[in-house]
Amino acid sequence: MKQRSIPFCRATIDKEEISEVVETLRSGWLTTGPKCERFEKKFADIIGCKTAIALSSCTAALHLALIASGVGEGDEVITSPYTFASTAEVINYVGAIPVFSDVTLDYNIDVIEIQKKISPKTRAIIPVHFGGLPCDMDEIMKLASTYNLSIIEDAAHAFPAEYKDKMIGNIGDFTCFSFYATKNITTAEGGMITTNKIESENIIRALSLHGIDKDIWKREIDGSYSYYDIIAAGYKYNLSDISASIGIHQLEKLNYFMERRRSIVERYNAAFSEISDIILPPVGDKDKKHAWHLYVIRLLEPEKRDDVIVRLRERGISTSVHFFPLHMNRYYREKYRYTDNTFPIARDLYRSSISIPLYPLLTDDDVDYIIEKVIESVLI
Ligand SMILES: *Cc1c(COP(=O)(O)O)cnc(C)c1O
Repeated sequence: MKQRSIPFCRATIDKEEISEVVETLRSGWLTTGPKCERFEKKFADIIGCKTAIALSSCTAALHLALIASGVGEGDEVITSPYTFASTAEVINYVGAIPVFSDVTLDYNIDVIEIQKKISPKTRAIIPVHFGGLPCDMDEIMKLASTYNLSIIEDAAHAFPAEYKDKMIGNIGDFTCFSFYATKNITTAEGGMITTNKIESENIIRALSLHGIDKDIWKREIDGSYSYYDIIAAGYKYNLSDISASIGIHQLEKLNYFMERRRSIVERYNAAFSEISDIILPPVGDKDKKHAWHLYVIRLLEPEKRDDVIVRLRERGISTSVHFFPLHMNRYYREKYRYTDNTFPIARDLYRSSISIPLYPLLTDDDVDYIIEKVIESVLI
């Protein structure tokens, strides 16, 4: 068989995205404007939330959600160590302290551990829906109401996901999505905040564009472009209409993307469930509908993990590891005196996990090849 080359990820970009981008380039309006507005409306319709605000990244969304929640200097924010850098760095941005709480074997934050970490300084919790599997939101929302905490969801992996018949994006105070190139839908770079707290919309919009109370495009159509007022020291977090042009058409394909992801997952599950050395990814109970952003297998023998990654690479299959837990990274280790063992579940999950390719552009033939080579590489 010919040597293949299967990247870990590849975005589906078709003629619709390309012609919308070209149309935007020709329109003369490149930055935040009508395309962003269309993208936001479509996104809010899908989620069923009151408002969606397009931003330059999920990191920007998390940052502004913390500010809109009133989190500041010296406050504590509880989050998962099993996440990407963004989730905790934004807590540092606002001068607050990230307090990690270990996960359970489904890679999501352990609600019992959260409760132990709540102090008089705790202001918010950032649950991360790892891989697209929703966290235990009822229990988390209950803690929020008991202790008067804001809930900011990191839903970078969780579009579209559901919890008890509600779309993720409708549950916490603010939900933050990512449209980075590898995510379930992409705008190259981009993010979104959804919220039903309509009173927070203006401040988030203002903060996303230098603290100015109205965006440039609206001033243009009002004919009153010379008026603006800076109401806060803001940021430069707006999304361009070029990016939004891509996003509009990604949303049109959402059902197809999800069908394709689910069908690949079913084939992986069927094949790997036969192999006792491979532990399948958690799927959650009937209350949770998975977004299947990642397909993460675990090895019964973690000491083989790095060799399996190398063998797959030799067979032309790129993989990844999600994630190197934050508490095991130098900055957090040194600043907060964590050791690898501080969060043992996160440590063990990390040591045994491999993320294998999962995206709509994989052909059935690719999937068969990946299944064959994964099994071969594990059983050698
Ligand atoms: C990708 C990712 C982010 C950051 O998304 P950006 O849009 O690149 O800022 C945040 N959290 C998690 C869990 C992610 O995987």
